[in-house]
Amino acid sequence: MTDTAAPLKLFVKKERIFPKRVWGKFRKIKWLSMVTLLGIYYLAPFIRWDRGPHAPDQAILIDMPARRAYFFFIEIWPQEVYYLTGLLILAAIGLFLVTSLLGRVWCGYACPQTVWTDLFVWVERIVQGDRAKRQRLYQAPWSFEKLWKLGLTHSAWLVIGMLTGGAWVFYFNDAPTLIEQIVHLDVPWSVLGWIIALTLSTYVMAGFAREQVCIYMCPYARFQSAMFDKDTLVIGYDELRGEQRGKHKKGESWEGRGHCIDCTACVQVCPVGIDIRDGLQMECIACGLCIDACNDIMHKLELPPDLIRYDTPHNQECRKEGKPEYFSLFRLRTFYYIAIMTVVGGAILFGLLNRSETELHVLHDRNPMFVQLSNGDIRNGYDIKILNKTQEDRIFSLSAEGLTGLTLKAQGAGELDAGSLLVFADSVGHFRVFAFAPKPETTRSDIRFVLQEKETEAREEYETLFVSGKQ
Ligand code: SF4
Ligand code: SF4
Repeated sequence: MTDTAAPLKLFVKKERIFPKRVWGKFRKIKWLSMVTLLGIYYLAPFIRWDRGPHAPDQAILIDMPARRAYFFFIEIWPQEVYYLTGLLILAAIGLFLVTSLLGRVWCGYACPQTVWTDLFVWVERIVQGDRAKRQRLYQAPWSFEKLWKLGLTHSAWLVIGMLTGGAWVFYFNDAPTLIEQIVHLDVPWSVLGWIIALTLSTYVMAGFAREQVCIYMCPYARFQSAMFDKDTLVIGYDELRGEQRGKHKKGESWEGRGHCIDCTACVQVCPVGIDIRDGLQMECIACGLCIDACNDIMHKLELPPDLIRYDTPHNQECRKEGKPEYFSLFRLRTFYYIAIMTVVGGAILFGLLNRSETELHVLHDRNPMFVQLSNGDIRNGYDIKILNKTQEDRIFSLSAEGLTGLTLKAQGAGELDAGSLLVFADSVGHFRVFAFAPKPETTRSDIRFVLQEKETEAREEYETLFVSGKQ
């Protein structure tokens, strides 16, 4: 071993990627997907939904100060966060299902990182030119031209960052009101802080980090290979047809050689800078742009398209072994995913259809657990919360059962009648309640609080303890 060997580097220097412009079927799908997704993203917070006078009329809103999440007819309280968990599980399994069927279609067409990056590269191309011009500008020394072109690119990126990432705040505020505040330069500092943070993170992620996010930061990119099987769609280079690759002159025969002319068009358009001819790689986001680039070359060479195409590992094997190819859409794993989604979706739906409009929560005092009164009776204290999930004020009667002579006294701002507790619309009523009873024989007695709405007689119960002595 010689001591002249270069020291091993922990990090490889990031090579800047300048994706070349390409046009074709998958590029069109990507533009269409971008326009559709951005359209939904912008329009969604402006959809109105009438929930009555006491609730916001924004269809999709996460109201942090009021601790509510609204999604059209669904209103989620903090106590019902399990619905949100269910929806996240549903979304995750849905993504697993799509990945097992169509590979990384989410990464290639719908992931915000891909959509924003596409938009940023488009701006870069408009201002600085296509791949070769951008590469030259990047390597050129500082000049007036470089300064204004980079200045314009970065300014446009910041504006897009604000319009895209920054628009996220509309989902947390009343969108029309916020627009008005923005127009009058009267945005609350907390909201402004979020707009700035989201603008800058979009600018950094889509302007600088780009493919590094997919390769190094995104956990989904790492574990989605676990959802792949031999029938999952991946982008594949047809090695049998393409090799031996090599340059080709017009009019030369294709006999005894492959159809790949080693033009590297597929590499030049790749947003993650890989060569798909080296086989399926973890970096590939399955955007299909290399298919468009290669099909364009095949068209010019008057050769059949799809030297690079959506393929399955199974069919790649079949071709090598000379067996017939087939694509099986539904496999055992797709049924697992569908089954899990059906169960979780069914549970959410069942929960929503049977969602109670009232909830009763009772918390027994910890210290003192009980008080013995001068007449020998025992008093226990409780914190009671009554959740009124409707948009109307409601009056409830609270009683307790389970012990002989059990009575209640309620306190709010002052003494209250436990038989007539007012809880305002869409709010939580907090009450201090004392239960009195002659000393029971056991030190711990099971009792039940019963809450009944005066008008509808809807009933909620809560089992708790009445403590009358030390154990
Ligand atoms: S674009 Fe097609 S022909 Fe050109 S290098 Fe790639 S695979 Fe070969
Ligand atoms: S190899 Fe092809 S499909 Fe994969 S990221 Fe590059 S251009 Fe997109």
